[in-house]
Amino acid sequence: MKIARSVAEVRASGSTSCGFVPTMGAFHEGHLSLMRAAKADCGFCAVSLFVNPTQFGPHEDYTKYPRDEANDIALAEAAGCDLLFIPAAEEIYAGDQISVSVGSLADVYEGYVRPGHFNGVATVVSKLIHIFEPKVAYFGQKDLQQCAVIRALFKEQFFNSTLRILPTMREPNGLALSSRNRYLTPEQIQNAGLLNRVLRRIAGSDDAVETAIKSGIQALQSTGWQVDYLDLVDFDTFEPLIHRTERGAAIGAARLGNTRLIDNVLICDDFFFAK
Ligand code: AMP
Repeated sequence: MKIARSVAEVRASGSTSCGFVPTMGAFHEGHLSLMRAAKADCGFCAVSLFVNPTQFGPHEDYTKYPRDEANDIALAEAAGCDLLFIPAAEEIYAGDQISVSVGSLADVYEGYVRPGHFNGVATVVSKLIHIFEPKVAYFGQKDLQQCAVIRALFKEQFFNSTLRILPTMREPNGLALSSRNRYLTPEQIQNAGLLNRVLRRIAGSDDAVETAIKSGIQALQSTGWQVDYLDLVDFDTFEPLIHRTERGAAIGAARLGNTRLIDNVLICDDFFFAK
């Protein structure tokens, strides 16, 4: 595996038409599943490891975000990564004249709670796609609203790369793997499976959607969670749905102590992944 720390080194590596996985590091099985797919599909797997400052709000955990470069290098290499790009923010943001501005998708749910977040995500992904010019770019369903933003970015900006979204990797109790899970105590990890259970009920029980949402909020609050939102939406537009349809996704964000977790459950996986 080659490590590149500058754009010039990536350009010299002949990585075009690779499978590309953008990440912020602190790798877990979720990241590694994307790397393995990139290698299997494209024969050459490129990964970026960059904690992107512009997608963090002023009161968020940018400086405290988990960083473990030596361990990440070993994990990426074992997962089949051929080129690991670890850029400096000074190069990625050397100029500040151009950024990507996301429309109404950035005003709701994650975008509402985290103003500016999706503009930061779309801006850095745009830069990275231009640096790598991949054949296929890989993202995780875990960040479903991010997938909708990236889908719109690729489509509306005519990116010459295919977007591939892969399913969420989880702990046995349903907790979606996340770099932020390392902030949780063992007791919180046990309790954290509840978010996924609640979302599965919203996506699939016999209860009316509204009833399932209300009882989900109650179940979370009564076990110490603070709920940012819980809803059923169209997975592409993020407009709320009153009734379950094949385009539906139950989405949620809630905090356990200081740790904020997000998750989603699709009503129809096949329909989503066929898109
Ligand atoms: P991050 O490092 O958090 O920016 O994540 C990098 C990529 O890994 C994003 O496309 C995420 O959606 C994806 N990802 C994060 N967690 C998971 C997971 N549990 N399962 C699958 N993909 C994930």
